[in-house]
Formats: sequence, structure tokens, C-alpha cells
Amino acid sequence: MSTILSDIKNSFVSIIKGLKVTAINWSILRPCVTELYPEQRPQLPEAYRGMPTLPVRPETGRSDCIACGACARMCPEHIITVEVDKTDPKDRKPAKFSIDISRCMFCGLCMEVCPKGCLRPARTFELASRTREGMIYNLDKLNELGGQLPPEPETKLES
Ligand code: SF4
Ligand code: SF4
Repeated sequence: MSTILSDIKNSFVSIIKGLKVTAINWSILRPCVTELYPEQRPQLPEAYRGMPTLPVRPETGRSDCIACGACARMCPEHIITVEVDKTDPKDRKPAKFSIDISRCMFCGLCMEVCPKGCLRPARTFELASRTREGMIYNLDKLNELGGQLPPEPETKLES
């Protein structure tokens, strides 16, 4: 009989403890620690580094990429494909450039190794797609996401 009473007492104490935790976390005085995404847009930190993109230089209307392939060789996920445009040997540029963003881990190695500094991190983070093909970003998409580089400052010739 004493064991039954003890069990009832322990159960009651456990319920009271649980209700106390619930009451504390429900309190309107407790500050909200979550964001109501997507209604509330997250404030990205200044140093946020997202997926690599290829911003366009306004003077040339394209990115500075010379299709050297260094980024593709460096990528630990092997998700960058680069094909050089051979139409003009004096004007080296990519004929095709794509990144399978579904496997990108935003490590930034491709951006670090780029000799032209033309791969830049995007500040976008909403990359969902309904298809796998939709996660493979081609040159146009990477240009679009990269936006435009600021115009280069004019260099004045000294007389
Ligand atoms: S950020 Fe890393 S994983 Fe993504 S494409 Fe560049 S090297 Fe590959
Ligand atoms: S490393 Fe830079 S220049 Fe070379 S292919 Fe990649 S993005 Fe283009």
C-alpha cells in the first residue's frame, strides 16, 4: 500500500515539474528566440558567404572568367564544369560554366583559387528547387545572381 502511495506521489511531483517547465517557456515575458520565417526575413551577418557566383563587369558585359578551370580542379565536390570558348584565341572566356549547387558546401575554395577573383559569394540562401536540374546553375544564372561589379576607377595618365 505504501508503494502505491509513493508511486502516486512521485507521478504527481513529475507532472507538477513538467507543468512548471511549460509555464516558464510559455511566459510572455520570455523573449522570442526564433524568427517567423518567411514572414520575417533574417538579418544576414555582414560576413555571410553563400554560394559562388560570377558577377558581370559592366564594361565588358560579362564576367572576368578566363575558363582556366582552376576552380573546377580545386572543388572538393567536383561540381563545377567549365568549357572554354575556342572561337577567338585572343579572347579567352567560358563557352559553358555550371555549378551543381545542390552539392555545394559553400567552402569557398573555388573563390580562393580563382586567379581573376571573378567568383564571388552570393548573399542569397533560398536555393530550393523542385527538380535536380533546377539546382544546376549555368553561366547565365550565375551571372544573374552575381549582379554587376562596380565600375573600375579611371586611371589618370600623368603628364
Ligand atoms: S564553394 Fe566549395 S563546394 Fe561549392 S563550388 Fe566552390 S569549391 Fe565547390
Ligand atoms: S578559376 Fe576563375 S577564371 Fe578560372 S575557370 Fe574558375 S571562375 Fe573562371
